[in-house]
Amino acid sequence: MARKIWCQPERSGMSESAQTPMKGAVRDAMGEQIKHELYSAYLYLSMAGSFEVANLTGFAHWMRRQSREELEHAMKFFDFLLDRGEHAELQAIEAPPYAFRSPLDTFEQALEHEKEITGRINALYELAVREGDLPAQVMLNWFVTEQVEEEKSATEIVERLRMAGEDSAALLLLDGELGKR
Ligand code: MG
Repeated sequence: MARKIWCQPERSGMSESAQTPMKGAVRDAMGEQIKHELYSAYLYLSMAGSFEVANLTGFAHWMRRQSREELEHAMKFFDFLLDRGEHAELQAIEAPPYAFRSPLDTFEQALEHEKEITGRINALYELAVREGDLPAQVMLNWFVTEQVEEEKSATEIVERLRMAGEDSAALLLLDGELGKR
């Protein structure tokens, strides 16, 4: 469907779209979430690089996959907004950390980051409920479930890295396993 977005200073309220308009608050929060998902992709890519230079190729592979998934999350928000007749104005993405102390430190940071994202998704869901935006709630259901999965998998790896401790054989075993993702 053609949308009148060319050279329009305002994102919403200008078009003659026949679609039910989105509430501004939900639209803006979803637009903002694109940035957070892209930052996640950026963060995990940085982590992948640091694992790769440490020759932990299984961990690196896991992080690369994770990074790609985050790009898909960003696209889900981007496409959902377009489906609703909205074109998200993309925001600047900040630089992720470059250096990490250890595999455990890396995954602890990944877990902390996912907890933060869970909070954002939950807040977005609550906003969609307050604003009575049913399509957004249905769409966000997927993300609520996904965040449970994200926290579960990061927690599992953190706990196994804690078990491995200083044992490099245990670390390499886990590396081999994550390489199969
Ligand atoms: Mg995500």
